[in-house]
Amino acid sequence: MSRRRFIAGNWKMNKTVTEAIALANGLKRELYDIDTVDIALCPPFTALDAVNEVVTGSNLKLGAQDVSWEASGAFTGEVAAPMLKDLGCTYCIVGHSERRHFFHESNDTVNKKTAALLKTDLTPIVCVGETLAERERDLTFGVVNDHVKKGLAGFSRQEAARIVVAYEPVWAIGTGKTATPEQAQEVHAYVRELLAELFSKETAASMIILYGGSVKPDNTKDLLAQPDIDGALVGGASLDMRRFADIVTIAASKET
Ligand code: PEP
Repeated sequence: MSRRRFIAGNWKMNKTVTEAIALANGLKRELYDIDTVDIALCPPFTALDAVNEVVTGSNLKLGAQDVSWEASGAFTGEVAAPMLKDLGCTYCIVGHSERRHFFHESNDTVNKKTAALLKTDLTPIVCVGETLAERERDLTFGVVNDHVKKGLAGFSRQEAARIVVAYEPVWAIGTGKTATPEQAQEVHAYVRELLAELFSKETAASMIILYGGSVKPDNTKDLLAQPDIDGALVGGASLDMRRFADIVTIAASKET
């Protein structure tokens, strides 16, 4: 089963509107001829509209970093899936470890947010992954099992096929420590087995599983050479035009 490569940049709480427009314009110029990799830019909410204007009609797609599980109503500070759709989003990250840890996001809220996105025809990028303490206590597979099974509970095969999973070991996020390609592949293969159990073997084989955690141009090729790593969710390196463009170009190269 051949899956398309996918590289997404998570800009987190960075970039003013002016800076976001400049970065998106630079990437549009650099990457205009890449047609073998899906590419998403995930700026903060405040820059979604401006970045949408830059990328509309190009090969760059827009994503948000979080969403409410409610569609509208008295939920001060929240942003609903239909609003993201209206702003031009195609994707939305859910359950990023920073949201799980700083904002107490649970598997249950991840599940509800994923459902809200699917209902609105947006593609959820559902993040799963263990902390350093959990890895050191040999809990990696247990934590990932919990994140995947509870986060994706109750969806049909057709819905699951539209979900992207991102394995992001928390100890590798923003630390400069990347999981080795073998460490990452071991967990990706496990995630695919879980997806097969939850949905079907065919569905699991068609689903995109990204790796995230200090991905940079230097390690992209080796990570993407692994059979179950279909792309990357890039944090720090996505803030720099040259580094993100290089990662996408490496992903598009016939050698990877
Ligand atoms: C992320 O936050 O999704 C991430 C992978 O960050 P970084 O690439 O900076 O480790």
